[in-house]
Amino acid sequence: MKALVKIAAAPGLELREVPVPQIGINDVLVRVHKTGICGTDLHIEAWDAWAQGAIDPPLIIGHEFVGEIVDIGSNVNDYGPGDLVSGEGHVVCGRCRHCLAGRRQLCAHTIGLGVGRDGAFAEFVALPMTNIWHHWRGVDEEVAAIFDPFGNAVHTALAFPALGEDVLISGAGPIGLMATAVARHAGARHIVVSEPDAFRRELAVRMGATIAIDPRERALSDVFDDLGMVEGFDVAMEMSGNAEALRETIAAMAHGGGVAILGLPTELISLDINAIVLKMLTLRGIYGREMYETWYKMTVMLQSGLDITPVITHRFSFREHEAAFAAARTGRSGKVVMDWRA
Ligand code: NAD
Ligand code: ZN
Repeated sequence: MKALVKIAAAPGLELREVPVPQIGINDVLVRVHKTGICGTDLHIEAWDAWAQGAIDPPLIIGHEFVGEIVDIGSNVNDYGPGDLVSGEGHVVCGRCRHCLAGRRQLCAHTIGLGVGRDGAFAEFVALPMTNIWHHWRGVDEEVAAIFDPFGNAVHTALAFPALGEDVLISGAGPIGLMATAVARHAGARHIVVSEPDAFRRELAVRMGATIAIDPRERALSDVFDDLGMVEGFDVAMEMSGNAEALRETIAAMAHGGGVAILGLPTELISLDINAIVLKMLTLRGIYGREMYETWYKMTVMLQSGLDITPVITHRFSFREHEAAFAAARTGRSGKVVMDWRA
């Protein structure tokens, strides 16, 4: 099969002919239809400091996918050939306290698809049956291909109730953009998106933002009067990984507010703890998605009218992977999808 492989400990990726993965008795083999490119894939391609510490080449990268089951292990009863599925990219241990309690997203021993084991940027991918999410007939395959980051957005957006609340989203990358649509669907009053990139601000408004501001030009508190906000934001989602964005978020929160933090800063950052204490804020770290409550919520919200399709801005064949990665690297893109059948 063809696969996009990190061959050696150096920048770059290669499209190579490799063996189709073997499956064990509890695994399924999926013929990949479409995949989404994530920031993680860009880090691995660029071979930055994080990738150097996390990746052991050779490795097939990629974890956002949709495809069709073509083979199942002898122990697999719930799925069969022809099923349209995606996969949860965190393969958990199944034995720790949290796994045994059904809180698999809290497992401290997860192995990442396309990070710690061969991934989905290939014509076929193998996964344990417990990592499979079965889609309903008629799902938009491009949307199904990005259930993984969509799940990051949903998990973050549902961390604090948004109904009737004023919501701040800092960072309108693909995840912030999807979170905007989810917060709108979940009944937020105002959604203020803070994002330096003009292309992404425009997309944020299409996804349901009340207003999208450039943090270099306008302070967050500056929009309170325009929108009739009295005290500050009730709910915030930090989706930029930027230190200044998190500090400004905390300064712009109302008493009792909730801040869900998904963005991953690349350095240590200092925060105004007095503001967190005196405003009685709740800060919550969000990693991955809940298995499988988030997947359920994604499914039913799409079925009840949530539309995230504007976030998909670029489509390529896997043979054009260099152009696809270049598009994902620019700010002038939302989600970039590669087709593995073209
Ligand atoms: P992205 O890099 O495409 O988006 C980040 C956006 O933040 C960019 O559009 C950038 O212009 C914007 N930004 C930069 N400085 C800003 C500022 N001062 N104020 C507001 N916005 C600013 O990333 P993404 O794929 O959408 O992911 C969002 C973040 O979440 C990243 O930090 C990523 O590493 C992280 N992430 C976390 C998880 C998790 O499970 N916790 C999963 C995936 C991604
Ligand atoms: Zn575990």
